[in-house]
Amino acid sequence: MSLLLTNIKELLQVREQNILKVSGSEMKELPTIKNAWLLIENDEIADYGSMENIPEINADETIDTSGKIVLPTWCDSHTHIVYAGNREQEFADRINGLSYEEIANRGGGILNSAKTLQETPEDEVYKQSAKRLEEVMKLGTGAVEIKSGYGLTEEAELKMLRVIKKLRENYNLPVKSTFLGAHAIPKEYKNDPDAYMDLVINEILPKVADQKLAEYIDIFCEKGYFSLEDTHRLLDAAKKFGLKPKIHVNQFNAIGGVKAGVEHKALSVDHLEVMNDEDIEALKGSNTMPVALPSCSLFLSIPYTPARRILDADLPLALATDFNPGSTPSGNMNLVVSLACIKMKMTPEEAINAATINGAYAMELSKTHGSITKGKKANFIITKEIPSYTYLPYAFGSNSIESVYINGKMI
Ligand SMILES: [Zn+2]
Repeated sequence: MSLLLTNIKELLQVREQNILKVSGSEMKELPTIKNAWLLIENDEIADYGSMENIPEINADETIDTSGKIVLPTWCDSHTHIVYAGNREQEFADRINGLSYEEIANRGGGILNSAKTLQETPEDEVYKQSAKRLEEVMKLGTGAVEIKSGYGLTEEAELKMLRVIKKLRENYNLPVKSTFLGAHAIPKEYKNDPDAYMDLVINEILPKVADQKLAEYIDIFCEKGYFSLEDTHRLLDAAKKFGLKPKIHVNQFNAIGGVKAGVEHKALSVDHLEVMNDEDIEALKGSNTMPVALPSCSLFLSIPYTPARRILDADLPLALATDFNPGSTPSGNMNLVVSLACIKMKMTPEEAINAATINGAYAMELSKTHGSITKGKKANFIITKEIPSYTYLPYAFGSNSIESVYINGKMI
């Protein structure tokens, strides 16, 4: 099967030579071809160029994309799409004056989601999660990472990870799986959190690894959740099973989680709403991708990740949704890109780089995804007729997407 797109108003993120990520001032550059064509063969990008020099191509199907922009699908490297039920009551409680931490202390928050997940049959969790995955694919997401962490018992954590595995098997996009058993301390362990870490490390982790249910390890390194010491202990244990770290750090407090992540060669450190100079320093020269989650900041009314400080330090930055029932009940990467521009003062070029190639890097997918490059997977978005790519983040709240292709097939 071959598919030819002609008269593309502008083809974005065209990388003749593949790159794995872009950092600092490079992020201001978004290579494009105006008035372009793009040829897809089966599930791969075969060729592209300017309409002025289009060779004779006999494609099985040709689409005229006059007035429309084509770009790689979004790479969402941080989600909690697998969960059961919702927490709109807590949303109302927060409007009525309770803080996220107060709600957590009352047994709400992550523990509330854990209780619901434990009580919901696996098939039902799958059904609810699949619906969300389909929704985000239609919104332009073509690769996604999903975490466990609403189980908090051996049985329920393994259940979540099996659901992630089933999504990967049944849907035509890359799905990366992360074990986040250390997401919150269950009520039963409130007075003995070390015993919960023992359970995660000695009981659940070996089974996750043995059943090949996760590629990555995660922990919520935060005051009131898990300490720096817990973080080192878990990441050391996970290393023996070959699970690379992608960790939650610096959401509410800076307690040294970024440095710990870098020391353990984390693939990414995520959240970063609170950043000290030491955190920025720790990232310099590392292969760890900082990941910002602006729709979480919007929903919780907490500070946004200081993108300008990170980029001005010549570091890379990726953007992801954090789609989850408590702090970000949205998996819309288009909104994330808008918020990055509006609230974090990233340019449209920086935001699109952060949501495509750098997101792919944060899932170890940038050899195959995240740019328009020959031989990469044919994952791309065709927009509606829009005046320019800057219109995408500008018209926040509008759906500018006409169609989404993953592995060469329309969603
Ligand atoms: Zn998260």
